[in-house]
Order: sequence, then structure tokens, then C-alpha cells
Amino acid sequence: MQPYATARRLSAGLAANEFSAAELIDHYLSAINAANPRSNAFITINEAGARAAAAAADEARRQGHATALTGVPMAHKDIFCTQGVLTTCASHMLHNFVAPYDATVVQQLQNAGAVCVGKANMDEFAMGSSNENSAYGAVANPWSAAHVPGGSSGGSAAAVGAGLVPLATGTDTGGSIRQPAAFCGITGLKPTYGRVSRYGMIAFASSLDQGGPLAHDAEDAALMFSYMAGFDEKDSTSADRHDAWLAQIPEHGIGDLPGNLTIGLPTSFFAALDDTSHLDQVRRELEGLGHTCVDITLPNADAAIPAYYVIAGAEASTNLSRYDGVRFGHRCENPQSLEDLYERSRSEGFGEEVKRRILTGTYALSVGYFDAYYVKAQKVRRLISNDFISAFKQVDVILTPTAPGPAFEAGALTKDPVAMYQQDKFTVPVSLAGLPALSMPCGFAEGLPLGAQLIAPAFREDLILALARDFQRQTDWHTQHPQVAS
Ligand code: GLN
Repeated sequence: MQPYATARRLSAGLAANEFSAAELIDHYLSAINAANPRSNAFITINEAGARAAAAAADEARRQGHATALTGVPMAHKDIFCTQGVLTTCASHMLHNFVAPYDATVVQQLQNAGAVCVGKANMDEFAMGSSNENSAYGAVANPWSAAHVPGGSSGGSAAAVGAGLVPLATGTDTGGSIRQPAAFCGITGLKPTYGRVSRYGMIAFASSLDQGGPLAHDAEDAALMFSYMAGFDEKDSTSADRHDAWLAQIPEHGIGDLPGNLTIGLPTSFFAALDDTSHLDQVRRELEGLGHTCVDITLPNADAAIPAYYVIAGAEASTNLSRYDGVRFGHRCENPQSLEDLYERSRSEGFGEEVKRRILTGTYALSVGYFDAYYVKAQKVRRLISNDFISAFKQVDVILTPTAPGPAFEAGALTKDPVAMYQQDKFTVPVSLAGLPALSMPCGFAEGLPLGAQLIAPAFREDLILALARDFQRQTDWHTQHPQVAS
């Protein structure tokens, strides 16, 4: 089996009977079992479930019911509920939680015949930028074990980057698909808020959380995305959209761009980089494709990180109040009173970063501070959103770096949460505005991959997917892989 094969390549091989889904899953499971002690990309490897799903995929194909994903292996971030399979959210709080139902995204991919190999590691409750906040241990970057894979979807990105699966789900609240995609040398799409159902996706900050695909390239990301997207009446913020271009992806792939685009480069984002040479090269490549690049300003983007950490913390503090030791998850031994049950279950169950978010979020929502912090942060969010609305009057798409630099060394930022939060300064403004954005590989620094972020107006994932696909036809950053064997 060709290492680092795309999902499209595997799908073609399955359709041509070069191999069966059962043979494919054998190959991937042995690669995963061999790599996981070193990489720790998986919290749960679901061998039995994967083999059963592969056999069912082969049977569906025999009966003529195959889709483009039938028999294709993939991993789910351990934030998605999977019926009968452990869902921990990388927290001790949910160390024994087996969901009684599947998340909508899991269900949709399963209906398409995809084979879930297991649950990918992540930062606890998706809070982090390095995957070092997992109760199940850190994950190694496939390019260098001494470096982090990014977070919070670090296990998903590392698994794809190492060739252990061609596709993985991730979630992105402030950058958690895009930044790990950049650090692991792969392509990740954060869809428009509301595009992908949040039902069964464990909530962190509900007004920001969005699921999306991690893949080797834009075509594979689009393919997976087309099966993840769609209206879901079980998610109250799900968008009731029926875009024809999205429905055509499984059969025809990403469509053509409507014409040459105007691409905006926010000056302050570039000024914040030590070295812009890789992004300059992306700009030249895009100009070579016929597009026009212009400088733009997003004047309030600098306020995004403080506003995000107030809003996301506030929402997390309310969402995480459900973990009280009563109905599911961790419960302390011998509680002496109801108060004692709450206090000890929560103190024992949550890790340090999660507690920090609950405390700061509760503070921001408390009487006397609500207006000063939460309401003010919401106003900043509106200003940032308006900045994008103005920018998209002048340009079709925006290009920025995904992260301030390549993957950092494990342990380098763990003692300085604010420095860790700064990792997200280019991705968080987009999240606050609810816009779609993708990260694509665009070069290397010190042997580690770098990512470029493309941002589009709401529900125009088609523009950034097509632009990334065109860029990837001209470049080979996305086909370079680390030396680890798959
Ligand atoms: N790193 C950011 C945080 O810690 C974003 C996380 C995410 O997108 N889930 O909140």
C-alpha cells in the first residue's frame, strides 16, 4: 500500500477492486498499532469496530451501494460522541463515558460507509494549542517527536500527517483545526459556523465550535466536508443551506473558481511575522494563477485574543457545569454531602487548563464584572466581524499566515498560558466572525511545516477550497511527508 495515500486514491483502489476494505483496514490498523506507542495520536483504537465496518463496506460495495468514502479509513477526534465506543474528550472527567448515541457528523460519515479506526487524542475539552493538555498524554509531531503537533485537534492532525489515516475529523473553536494542520503539514478546513452539525460534539464554546476535516490536500478535505456538512434539526444553530457546489463534490470534486479573484493581505498580520518569505511565495504563486493581491486592514484584529478568551471561557464555564459527578462521568469516592460530591468530582476530574478557563469564565460572567468583561468582549466581537464585512467589500478572499511560526518544542509554552494563547492570534479573529477558513502547507522552517490561511465570506468554502486546490496543483508542499514509516 502506498504510504500517505489520499482518500481519493484509496477510494479509486477500492472501486477498481485493487484491494478490499478489509485488506485496507488490516494495513492501517497495523500501522496505527505500531506507531501509537510513539505518537500517542489515538486515545482509543477500535479494531473490532473497524473490522466490522470494513466488512460492511465491502458488502455494500458488492451490492452496488458504495459512495466515495465507502471503505475509506478515518479517525474521529475524541470530542465526537460515538455509540458504544469510549468518548473521553481527553479528560479524566469522561474517562469512563460511553455515549448512548452517535454525533450527527459520525452518523453521516458512517452512513457514507467510512470506516472509523478509533478516537484521536486532543487537548482536554479542546482547550489548548499544543495537545499537551490531554489527560492521556501529549502527542508527537510526525515531523519531529520533540515538537508539538498543535492543538486542540493534535491527534487528528498527527495521525493524518504521519499517514496513519488519510482523513480525520477535528473541531475548531479558535484555530484547533487550522493550527494543527499547519504544524503537521496537512490541509484543514474550518467551515462557516453552522455549516456542520454540533449535535453530539462535546461543547466547549457553543457560539464558536465548528467541526471540519483534516486531510492531505484540499480535494480530500472537500470530499470529507461534503459528507459532514448539512442542516440538522438537532442543532439549533445549524444553517439550512443547500449549496449545489457542495452536493457535486463527491462526484465532480471541487469546482472551478468563478474567475480571477482579488485576495486581501492584512498588513498587520504580516508585520507580526519574523519571516514572511514563505507567504510572499504564496502570494507570487497566487498572482501567477491570475489573481490580484492587495493590502487590507483588519483594524480590530489585535483585540481578538482577549475578547475570545473572555467569550470562550464564559461559554465553557456554563457548558462544563454539567460535569458534576451526578449523571455521568467521574464521581469522587465516598461523597460526604452534595457540595462535597460536586467539589471533589470536579476538582479531580478536570485538568489545570480547563479549571483556569472555568474560573476566568465564571469571573467574567459574575455580577459586577459582566458588563466590564463579557459585554465588552461581545462588542469587540462585533467590531471584528464588521472589519471582515468591510474587507469583503474590496476582496474575495483573505490570505494570512495560519500561525506565528512552525511547531514549537514540547514544553516550551506550558508554563506561560498567555504566550500559548498568542499562538491563535491569526485564527481567532476568523472564529469570532464565524467565517470559513482553511490552512494549507506552504513551506518549511527548520525542517517543520508552515501553513497559509485562506479566509472566505460566510458559506463560501467553495472559493478557498478551489483556490487551495489550484495552489496545490502548482506546488508540492502538500505531497511532502515526514520520514516516519506508516
Ligand atoms: N487554542 C484555542 C484555545 O485554547 C483554540 C482551541 C480550539 O479551537 N478548540 O481555546
